[in-house]
Amino acid sequence: MSFEAFLGNATAKEQLSAFVAEGRFPHAILLEGPVGCGKKTLAKQLAMAAICEGSLLSEDKPCGTCAHCIKSTAGAHPDIQIVTDPQDKKTYRVDAIREMREKALMVPNEADKRVMLLFDAQNLNPSSQNALLRILEDPPTHLLFILTCENRSQLLSTIQSRVITISLSGVSAAEAIPYLKEQFPDISEEELTAALTMFDGCIGQVLETMKEGELSKVQELIVKGADALVKPEEIHLLRWTAELEKEKDFIDGVLNGLRLVIRDALTLGAGGQTQLSSAKEQAKKLSRQYTGKQLMAAMEAIEYLQVARSRNMNLTLFLTLLCGKLRSSLGA
Ligand SMILES: [Zn+2]
Repeated sequence: MSFEAFLGNATAKEQLSAFVAEGRFPHAILLEGPVGCGKKTLAKQLAMAAICEGSLLSEDKPCGTCAHCIKSTAGAHPDIQIVTDPQDKKTYRVDAIREMREKALMVPNEADKRVMLLFDAQNLNPSSQNALLRILEDPPTHLLFILTCENRSQLLSTIQSRVITISLSGVSAAEAIPYLKEQFPDISEEELTAALTMFDGCIGQVLETMKEGELSKVQELIVKGADALVKPEEIHLLRWTAELEKEKDFIDGVLNGLRLVIRDALTLGAGGQTQLSSAKEQAKKLSRQYTGKQLMAAMEAIEYLQVARSRNMNLTLFLTLLCGKLRSSLGA
């Protein structure tokens, strides 16, 4: 099977390996999955596999040694392009997509395919999506489009129906811990497991947080958020969101961690034992203080907020919404 080095996600890898083995790709593949689950990494490996010509050293593609693979690894293959909008780092303007379309129509230079990678497709506004749709409706035979986004529902249904969607998820501790131990030999297994749980197995987020040595900061903000939920007065939530505003890079990790605390509180409330979160005391308090219905509403509120985050909502507006949604879900 190809993509052995990519952790977990066996089903997705099998699906993609079948395309590689047969040398037959759909015109467009969408990789969906949460932040940090490895969508971009896998998309790049897939692009490489699609134009790899194979070698005697390896039966799998990408072989890593053919001329195409060497150029791809260096990020210098003329037939693999990452779509960007030079004028707008956050979204893709319709002009950028039109420009991309021109390039996509051109026959490949060296390989038998031209691969276009478009990351974070949720950042395409409706008119950009419609511009993209025009090429997906009538793609040249040489084209392979690889899109990524967190959830297919972020895209127009007309786009969804023209791509093959492959879902990725976080990986289990059994799959990830040996790898993480290699990366961080000085950190205990317990701490690594805690970090992995905090980010629901999304290795990318774990690596980023660990590399920056920021794990304890994220953990602290999760505990503070859970504490603020225990105390129903708005002032505590406001203080917490003010801290989040200063540490905006950690918001995704904090939201995920907080969701796990509430999930634990729900389990505890139902008489269960599962303890996934990094704020066990707060989970206990929440389970005593709120009904299952309230906790469920709070979890739904966080999931809603995570979608809002992925759509690049303005930060101040987001934090106001965060405060309001959490309060109203808990009936405070
Ligand atoms: Zn190769």
